[in-house]
Amino acid sequence: MTDMIARRFVLDLPVDPLTLNAAVDRVAQVMQSHRASPDLTPLQIVTLNAEMAMQALQDEELAAVIRHCGLVVPDGSGVVWALRRHGDVVQKVAGVDLVRAMAARAAQDGYSVYFLGGKPGVAQEAADKLAEQFPGLRVAGCRDGYFQPADEPALLDEIRTARPDLLLVALGVPRQEKWIVQHQKALGVPVAMGVGGSFDVFAGRVKRAPVGFQRLHIEWLYRLIQEPWRFQRMQSTLPAFVGEVLKRG
Ligand code: UDP
Repeated sequence: MTDMIARRFVLDLPVDPLTLNAAVDRVAQVMQSHRASPDLTPLQIVTLNAEMAMQALQDEELAAVIRHCGLVVPDGSGVVWALRRHGDVVQKVAGVDLVRAMAARAAQDGYSVYFLGGKPGVAQEAADKLAEQFPGLRVAGCRDGYFQPADEPALLDEIRTARPDLLLVALGVPRQEKWIVQHQKALGVPVAMGVGGSFDVFAGRVKRAPVGFQRLHIEWLYRLIQEPWRFQRMQSTLPAFVGEVLKRG
């Protein structure tokens, strides 16, 4: 059903204007289809925000990865603003919300999840917190994101053997997106998603903005207060993004 909603484009990058629930339905559908036909094309999910869209302008490989993704959700007020300019009814789908909702569905339907990335211990903590919240969640495995290239073959083997239905990758943008494209097919994982700093949020290492900030669409401001080193990066990115969008009409 959800496939019938046409893709939109922001800075020539695709965005699927789905609600959170529709996105989760779509993911669940893919995981279910893979149970019956494991050779189906795997699904990669990207959560697109203004910063990533701007990065993709400079990084052709990242742009190609985003274009190849089966599901791109609008994660960020900038992207939502760009789509609404043309009258699209679009809701923001925050990466953390999508991960939490997918974990809930996985627990309900018996799908297993592998947590890759973050500082040592964080993936495990995030998995534990989600399993607490969604009893029955099958955790296929956890691994930090500071592995060396020499460790990679063993890591790939471990994931392959664990056979998760869903792989969450927290290595930061754009490494996580590129890593997924490079390995997803060989890993045989039906669905994989780059989740940025989500594990840090679930593990309680970084606080999510209070609901008031979320409602006012200023989650980015709260994040800045907590992680001020992001300021320079963000300060130059948002106006540039707005400028690019306006330039393209
Ligand atoms: N990270 C990692 N390995 C690395 C670099 C980063 O596992 O080599 C993790 C980091 O611990 C954090 C996540 O990647 O949990 C995302 O980081 P951040 O939020 O800074 O990235 P963004 O996605 O916002 O660019």
